[in-house]
Amino acid sequence: MQDVLVIGAGPAGLSLAAALAKTGLAVQGLALADPAHPWPNTYGIWVDELEDLGLVQFLEHRWKDCVVNVNSGTLPLHREYGLLNKDRLQTHWLTQANKHQVTWHQGKAVRIEHLTTHTLVTTEAGELLTARLVVDATGHRSALVRRPIASELAFQAAYGIVGQFSQAPTDPQQMVLMDYRDDHLTPAQRREPPTFLYAMDLGNDLYFVEETSLAHHPAISMEVLRQRLHQRLRHRGIAVESSHHVEQCLFPMNLPLPDFNQRVVGFGGAASMVHPASGYMVGAMLRRGPGLAQAIAAALGAPETTPTEVASQAWQALWPADRVRKHYLYLFGLENLMAFDGPQLHQFFAAFFSLPTDDWAGFLADSLTLPEVVQAMIGLFGRASNPVRLGLMRSVFSHGHLLGRTLMS
Ligand SMILES: Cc1cc2nc3c(=O)[nH]c(=O)nc-3n(C[C@H](O)[C@H](O)[C@H](O)COP(=O)(O)OP(=O)(O)OC[C@H]3O[C@@H](n4cnc5c(N)ncnc54)[C@H](O)[C@@H]3O)c2cc1C
Repeated sequence: MQDVLVIGAGPAGLSLAAALAKTGLAVQGLALADPAHPWPNTYGIWVDELEDLGLVQFLEHRWKDCVVNVNSGTLPLHREYGLLNKDRLQTHWLTQANKHQVTWHQGKAVRIEHLTTHTLVTTEAGELLTARLVVDATGHRSALVRRPIASELAFQAAYGIVGQFSQAPTDPQQMVLMDYRDDHLTPAQRREPPTFLYAMDLGNDLYFVEETSLAHHPAISMEVLRQRLHQRLRHRGIAVESSHHVEQCLFPMNLPLPDFNQRVVGFGGAASMVHPASGYMVGAMLRRGPGLAQAIAAALGAPETTPTEVASQAWQALWPADRVRKHYLYLFGLENLMAFDGPQLHQFFAAFFSLPTDDWAGFLADSLTLPEVVQAMIGLFGRASNPVRLGLMRSVFSHGHLLGRTLMS
């Protein structure tokens, strides 16, 4: 019998299948399509996150000139950003997985049954797969991982174009993390939920421009984002000359944490690993995958450990109590971001990106300890304008339960 069945062949599934197989476990994978089928999304990440992991060779583009634009001006970020070469990363993990004899099945997981010593997964076509542990890495709409039903899911949504333009949408060799300037909007549009431009110079006259809603419930529609992108570009006198690729992005920011007592283990979107205040996940996945694989290998290697205990130890490795506490603090941050009006958002980001780089970088990467996150938030409060402080204080009353979970989880 196989030790682990990993379901899903996105970044989470492939990276974990490779990491598990490297520990010596017998691993099989199940995915809807060939695991070599190209991933659809473009992944951005801060270069220092990859440097720490020794993975910078998987970057396709790097930008030293990274900025945030708000109505009051441009904020230089003094931190290098990159786009992953997703094909190279995918090939790397597939090669690793193949080297360690991971076998792949194609199909859609539809049913799971836990027996005393192992678990059975049935595909839509009726294929039956057996393993001592099942990892669900099927993304944000997980196939098997159970979680509480969310009352109000907030979505990050974006509409982007890779193409050529009549004028450069950014400065040469620049990456714009957020351009929140709203001088192109009508007064009525300025009262609607704010959106920003994420943009980068890809070289050879090619640019990526994406109108993004950081988080909103319900999701901002693609049509609104598309219109806003063109309105913004038009206002700056920029026309799209050719469009090579259109990206439509939609994923939940505050998916509830899974039930940690279930026998299926999740990873990636399926394990609610998206950072609730930024929408980034790839860095966290790269950092936490090897530790999760080691914890699973150790638990499966202990003869007395029951399958329920193996799953529980895996969930513990992925979501230790301290990380759960921080997660609620980030959810509190998300609620604030969604409650701010346009001017408050501008003032908030001006204060946030004027924090010491280690503080805002650590907040976004979830690499600070809980006391450090609290310290950074206090620092932010100190720098923020009065309207932002007022918004934050109001939020303590309306979303205090999230702060309570930070203290009590
Ligand atoms: C357009 C877009 C852009 C993003 N950009 C960034 C970014 O720049 N940086 C960042 O950090 N994060 C980004 N994210 C957020 C997050 O990192 C991605 O959503 C990421 O793809 C999640 O990885 P995953 O492997 O968990 O899930 P997915 O990439 O969704 O992969 C899921 C896999 O499971 C398979 N599957 C699904 N259901 C079944 C089933 N029932 N049976 C078998 N297989 C199944 C799918 O075929 C797929 O192989 C972005 C998200 C989107 C949507």
